[in-house]
Formats: sequence, structure tokens, C-alpha cells
Amino acid sequence: MSDSAELTEIFSSIQGEGLLIGLRQLFIRFCACNITCQYCDTGKLESATIPAFCMVENSPGKRDFSAEPNPLPLNRVLMLLRNWQRDYPSVHHSISITGGEPLLYSGILKKWLPEIRPILPVYLETNGILYEELSMIIDYLDYICMDIKLPSTTGLAGFWAEHRFFLQIAATKNPVVKIVVSSETPDWEISKSCEIIASVDKSIPLILQPLTLPNGNPGISSRRTLELQEIACRYLMETRIIPQTHKFSGFL
Ligand code: SF4
Repeated sequence: MSDSAELTEIFSSIQGEGLLIGLRQLFIRFCACNITCQYCDTGKLESATIPAFCMVENSPGKRDFSAEPNPLPLNRVLMLLRNWQRDYPSVHHSISITGGEPLLYSGILKKWLPEIRPILPVYLETNGILYEELSMIIDYLDYICMDIKLPSTTGLAGFWAEHRFFLQIAATKNPVVKIVVSSETPDWEISKSCEIIASVDKSIPLILQPLTLPNGNPGISSRRTLELQEIACRYLMETRIIPQTHKFSGFL
């Protein structure tokens, strides 16, 4: 297998979601997804348009992007990350492996992560479905932020069994579970999600993330979000409500 991968972007920014919110990270964004949530235009791997170029930030945080032809080889990615870490020491907390759904590239990640992890800790952002792929690279991860995808927000059937298996594998790698909630989210979806989390470890943090509408407004009232938090608190030790901060803060 080649050691090159189609990427959308490599850049430096703050983490805009989850428990590491506000910390500076280096982001490696992979193309395409394995599902099609109704609020997202990423597209499935087999039908998505793979970009001809990856946008690479030349200096971290300076927004001086260059277009580099896809796929990018591991050596190029390593050179970027090592140079940034050398020139901007102590700035970045970790390297975020994100998408789309990065576990679609588990074969590539199995080659890349042993080389990347000595540079900075590795933070995986994932929809929490591809558990077999997760098991292939679990040894090379330091943090996992996984979704539980609700039918009420995705417009898809639930992935309850997959999420349970996924979290069982993720449990040793500082997992955080994120759930996007909307005005359509019924109580039972939160209860069921929390039962799954509690069956693994009730101290695993849960983040309820209000859906952001295309116009930038939240897709759920604050009152309803608080009700959903109250439900989650019956099952779990730590449930936070954190919106997608980069959607209104101007960060990438
Ligand atoms: S899992 Fe994430 S990337 Fe995939 S379709 Fe849903 S929102 Fe988009």
C-alpha cells in the first residue's frame, strides 16, 4: 500500500469543540466520510469529489496556504509537522486527525501514526462507528473524541451497536463522547446514548453540542438543551454543553 493520502487541509488552529477546546492543535483533515448526515455536505468516499489539491498552511496560524497536489506522501507531512514543532516549540498541544471520517484511512494511519506520534500526542476526531478500523490504530492514539450519531439530527438510522463496540475499544485512550442535539432530539435518544456510555464507564465525559444551523443560529433552545443535560446527568458523572465555538469565533 502507498504511504500517500488524499487530504483536504493541513493547518494550525485552536480546537473548537470538546474538552480540549481552546488548545492549539495541528490539524490533518482527511477527505470524505462513511455516512451522510443531513446537516453535512462532506459526502461518502465512493461519491465524494476528492480534491485535486490539499491546502497546506506554510506557517502555522498565518493563513498563508499553498495548494499541494493530492495525494500527499508521509514524508511531506512529517517534514511539515517537524518543522512547525521546531519553529514554534510549546505552541501546539497535539495533532488532530480529523475529517470527514479519518478512520476510512486506517490502513494509511497505521503507517503514519507511529511516525507522527513522537512529534506530538495524537487526538482522533471520529464519528465513532468504524470500530474495527479503530482497533487497528488504537495503540498510536492519545485522545479520542467520538460522536454518538442520533437519528434525530443525522436523518439516518442509529448506530447504537457500533458506538458501543467503538467506545469499549476507545476506553483506555481518554475518550470523550460528543452528541449533536437539535430541537428534534427526543429524550430517549439521550437516555439510550447515556446507557451505552455508562455501560463502559460512567465517568467518561459527555458533551452535548447544540446543532449549528446554516445561518449560524443554534438549532435547539437553551431550555431544551438544559433538559437534555438533566437527563444525561441521571446516568453520567460529567455532562457539559459546549457549542461549536469556531462557527462564531472566526477561527478555522
Ligand atoms: S459524520 Fe461528520 S463528516 Fe461524516 S457526514 Fe456526519 S457530520 Fe459530516
